[in-house]
Amino acid sequence: MLASQFDLFLFDLDGVVYVGSEPLPGAVSSLKQLRDADKNIRFLTNDPCATRESVCKRLHNIGVEVEIEEMITSSFATARYLQKEGIQSVYVLSDEHLIDECERLGIQTNAGENVEAVAIGWGGDITLQEVQHAARLISNGAKFIGTGPDLSFPTKKGPMLATGSLIEMIARGTGVKPIIVGKPHSLMFETALEQFPNIKKERVVMIGDNPSTDILGAHQIGISSILISDAIDKPFSGEYDFRNPDAMIPNLKSLFKREVRLKPWTQPAFQWPEAIKAAVTAILFDEEGQVLLMRRRDNRLWGLPTGHVELGESVTDAIRREVLEETGLEVEVNRLIGVYSDPNTQIMNYPDGRIVHFVTTCFECNQVGGVLADETAESLEVRFFKPDQLPDDMLEMHRHRIEDARQEKGVLIC
Ligand SMILES: [Mg+2]
Repeated sequence: MLASQFDLFLFDLDGVVYVGSEPLPGAVSSLKQLRDADKNIRFLTNDPCATRESVCKRLHNIGVEVEIEEMITSSFATARYLQKEGIQSVYVLSDEHLIDECERLGIQTNAGENVEAVAIGWGGDITLQEVQHAARLISNGAKFIGTGPDLSFPTKKGPMLATGSLIEMIARGTGVKPIIVGKPHSLMFETALEQFPNIKKERVVMIGDNPSTDILGAHQIGISSILISDAIDKPFSGEYDFRNPDAMIPNLKSLFKREVRLKPWTQPAFQWPEAIKAAVTAILFDEEGQVLLMRRRDNRLWGLPTGHVELGESVTDAIRREVLEETGLEVEVNRLIGVYSDPNTQIMNYPDGRIVHFVTTCFECNQVGGVLADETAESLEVRFFKPDQLPDDMLEMHRHRIEDARQEKGVLIC
């Protein structure tokens, strides 16, 4: 049974333990059964307007025993993160909950202009002036931290904006990428795991009802996950989709059923991307069969001319533009070599933390004009190489693409 496979159980609350003021079937008795078996329990909630005390009270009211140390709200995890980072002064944009959590950990809040960080939570009385002030502090170099990613939450009157919308507004306006604490981001999970340094990750499970926060977050940090759902099929079809759980159960009673087992999800070698984008790569052979390479300014590696497809642009226009910008040569597209989308090779991690999955169309091209540049805005050096004498410091996947083009296997879809 699932209950015996783990020593630390992380629970989402809404949709797992209760809905509104009502406990879900078997939730109260199952939590008690875990406690009787000496299991460790932590509750993780992204709700920025809940204090740890108020959520504990809510659990007490439905008959669940809980200590405040077992409750991890996104506000608490944010304050803990600031403390771990050694931040002593923060401008807090939220109601009193996040301010209280910061002050309890000895962090000075709203300490004038020279704060080290800005923390964004949620509050009904936040004014546009305060949002502008937070944005200005961030633009001037204060660290930008947000409690949670949720853009909105459902109500009877329709969706209401949530913390994520406020964070997004400041991120878009300032161009600064925030550090987000709440699920599915890892900091929330780390706040729970740091309390149990002797429990191995194999013995930790996250139980939640939201694949995109609870399950994705668990898999990003390398622990198992159980989805509370009445469905039979996994929520996503992709074999490596981080949002697919290791087990699905209708309610917490199933943790103790002998026949319910894990079907472990296999962690792939790539990290979960935040976006998917179209890209192009050009292969240009000269009359002697030499291939055109450029040494990139960003990572100093040799590679084929490559780039994004811009909005409103065809792949062939994108190829012509990229080759001209990166090498000075004018080209026409000759033939399609392949379409590359395999996440194992097509997910890229950028130095600023972005992770992007590219679907790349690769074409062989012919030169029709232009003059080979010594260097360009994107390349340190541009020249032709014999295919059997390619440089060692070259992007490995581009080496494979040149091989694909030389072998003339027909269009590759991979
Ligand atoms: Mg939930």
